[in-house]
Formats: sequence, structure tokens, C-alpha cells
Amino acid sequence: MGRWIIEFIKYLLDCVLSVLYCREYKCIECGNYVEESSICNECSKKIKFCKEFIRIKKNNNEVICYSVSYYSNLMVKLILRLKYKSDFVCADIISSFMIKVIQENHIKFDSITFIPMTRKALRKRGYNQSRILAKIISDKLNVELIDCLKKVRETKDQIGLDGNSRWENLFLSFKIKNSNKILGKNILIIDDVITTGATSYYCAEELLNNGAKKVKVLTAAKTSI
Ligand SMILES: [Zn+2]
Repeated sequence: MGRWIIEFIKYLLDCVLSVLYCREYKCIECGNYVEESSICNECSKKIKFCKEFIRIKKNNNEVICYSVSYYSNLMVKLILRLKYKSDFVCADIISSFMIKVIQENHIKFDSITFIPMTRKALRKRGYNQSRILAKIISDKLNVELIDCLKKVRETKDQIGLDGNSRWENLFLSFKIKNSNKILGKNILIIDDVITTGATSYYCAEELLNNGAKKVKVLTAAKTSI
């Protein structure tokens, strides 16, 4: 059995036990007791929250990308634990911050989706961390989660590439699927990290070219090259 499945079962068991026994929760960072499975207020202060958004204008499209925070300290830890350690408690924490951004910025959308991975990458990790974040948000806000994009091309790791190369690297990498689910809709795309916005833009463009009305993007963190 894959390690992530064991971690996921542990996480589910943890959730069930906490409901049954009203267990006290501990902050994931400092270990102090908190009301919910989360991080305490003091540790939250270590996150460098991001107040501005990126507006990408290209090919007559405009896509606005929001981020919870800058890619630094505690947020890096949370993202890496979610991505590489199958720590789904981190997904709960990150998604609760994402919901805050949605509410504070009055982001309106009919459906929520996520940046896809190639089949090969998905097989290797066992799960798509962006899908997990999107699923939690969809459940908590009672908005439909749709699977409408696929990554059709294996791309080079974006790390080490300059701005233009990142855009070239991702060109024609994403394709629509289930296009009937996006017609005339406002869609919110979820991802973990945004850098140049190339990934977000190409996914948004594919949705807009296939009938979506508007597309916005929300990521956990924002970084520069
Ligand atoms: Zn703490």
C-alpha cells in the first residue's frame, strides 16, 4: 500500500476520533493547544499574508490571480508537507486561509477546479495537492468541484528557467475536458504556488476559449523567480 494511503487513512481516523472523543487539538507548528486542528494565532503571524493580486493580460484575456501569502517560512513548510509528506492536516489549514481570501475579496464563482498534473506525475505522488485543496473549499462553501482540465504534455521543471522560458515550457500543455461543465460559468482555479503565472494563465485561457465566462485563480503562495 502506498505511503500516502496510509497517511490518508490515519488522517481520516484522526478526524473520526476527534469527533467521537472531542479530543483537544494541538497547533501543528508549536504544539500548543488550540480549539481546532489548525495552527495557533501566534504561529499564524509567521505567515506573510499577501494583500495584492496579479492581473495577467494576454491574447485579449484578463485573469486575476489571488494568493494567500508570499512563499516564505511557515507557508513553505505547510505546502511542502502537503506535497511531499502526504500531511493532509496542512491542506485543511491552507484551505481555511484560502476561504478567508475568497470571502475578504468577495470572489464570486459558480464552480471550482484545480491545476491538473500529468498521469505520470499523479501516479508518482498518488494525489494532486491542488485537487485536495479545491475539494475542501468546494465542500466547505458548497460549490461544485469540476474536473475540467488535463495536462497533456510532460514539461521540464520550472525551477531554474527564466520568465520567458517558463511561458514557452508550458505552452500547449493543458487541454479542456468535460467542456459542457464550464459553459457560461465563472470558474475559480486552485493551485499551490504561482510564480510567473504561466501555468495559471494557460489553464484559464483554455477554459475561456472553451466557453467559460470568467476565470479567476487562487493559490496558497506567490513567489518570484
Ligand atoms: Zn502555534
